[in-house]
Amino acid sequence: MRATRLHSYGSPLKIEEIEYPRIEKPFDVIVRIAGAGVCHTDLHIIQGMWKDIARPKLPYTLGHENTGYVEEVASGVEGFEKGDPVILHPLITCGRCPACRAGEDMHCEKSLFPGLNVDGGFAEFMRTSHRSLIKLPRDIDRSKLVEIAPLADAGITAYRAVKKALKSLFPGSYVAVIGVGGLGHLGIQMLRILSQASIIAIDARDDKLELASKLGADYIVNARRDPVAEVMKITGGRGVNVAIDFFGGQATLDYGPRILGRMGRLIIVGYGGELRFPSTSIIALEISLEGSLVGNYIELRELVNLYLRGSIRVIHETHPLEDVNEVLERLERGEVRGRAVLVPHRS
Ligand SMILES: [Zn+2]
Ligand SMILES: [Zn+2]
Repeated sequence: MRATRLHSYGSPLKIEEIEYPRIEKPFDVIVRIAGAGVCHTDLHIIQGMWKDIARPKLPYTLGHENTGYVEEVASGVEGFEKGDPVILHPLITCGRCPACRAGEDMHCEKSLFPGLNVDGGFAEFMRTSHRSLIKLPRDIDRSKLVEIAPLADAGITAYRAVKKALKSLFPGSYVAVIGVGGLGHLGIQMLRILSQASIIAIDARDDKLELASKLGADYIVNARRDPVAEVMKITGGRGVNVAIDFFGGQATLDYGPRILGRMGRLIIVGYGGELRFPSTSIIALEISLEGSLVGNYIELRELVNLYLRGSIRVIHETHPLEDVNEVLERLERGEVRGRAVLVPHRS
């Protein structure tokens, strides 16, 4: 089968023929990939940022945002059969550790992360486990299955952060969405339907801000002007109740804490930069700085249901596997509108 693999850090991915993944454990499932979203984390992986954290053995296949059809199930798997359309929670979890018992899949002590430390979905087929699968309606269009691939990572990551934000959002509150990319464009839609706060979208690109307005942002701020001054003007000098930083680069982390009001919360989702902020301000305003990591299985189920009800849509573009390096370059330049999804099979 064809797969898109990382052979060495800092080099483009290679498209090559590799062996079809084998069933190894009693709860393994082989999925025929319908859509595999391309994420900023893929860029970070190639740059080597995850080398010492995920410790994958090279070469391996990237892709951690996947949907597809069940192709083959191991002997212990019940309730799934060949042809079932599925979306994959990104982690393979053990189900027995304290975090798994608490439903917090991302903190499983024995997890595997396809696309980060074992073979992922930039391929015709991939192996996962039955605990990671959410079955979709049998008659779902293949094009919809491709469209919702980004919910498996960008979507739940935005959703978990938004759910955390909701605790501090009431009518009259302000929430800032920093970065209107794959995650931010979904986050705005979720905030629109789940909260009554005014939404301020901040991005450095006008086309992304235009998209933010279309999706329901009440205010837009171009980050290349003075985002702190602009936000203070919009909020009458009070600052926002919550800011969600979907980018997490140095530029956004430098202004993110400075747009918060009293008891404001900065929820950091994107990563790569370093946070520097005076502790005096943290205390004086009683602000909180929090991290948010992907999302759990239940959150993905809730999100899929929101999509199936028509409450959110995924702005996306599709590409064959062969285009992966070009897509990654465009993603790095900020040129992808919404999310790019790789489609390994032609039919
Ligand atoms: Zn990702
Ligand atoms: Zn576990």
